[in-house]
Amino acid sequence: MSAVSACCVCGGTGAVKTFTCGVCRGTGYIPEANVPTVVCPECGGKGDSQGNPDLSCLRCRGQGVVAANSPR
Ligand SMILES: [Zn+2]
Ligand SMILES: [Zn+2]
Repeated sequence: MSAVSACCVCGGTGAVKTFTCGVCRGTGYIPEANVPTVVCPECGGKGDSQGNPDLSCLRCRGQGVVAANSPR
């Protein structure tokens, strides 16, 4: 038996975004008073902290799927 179901934690991608840029709070842009919009210098507008890519989902261990009959 190899019944599997998509991991509900990561949505089947196998990765979860744990780190978010603390400068722009993940928006990628910083609201400025004098200028319309400033791209966040910390993350370059991505909203993620540099060097902190998506982590492997702990529930499915990056597989994106979990055993459908796994015990809780
Ligand atoms: Zn940022
Ligand atoms: Zn997962």
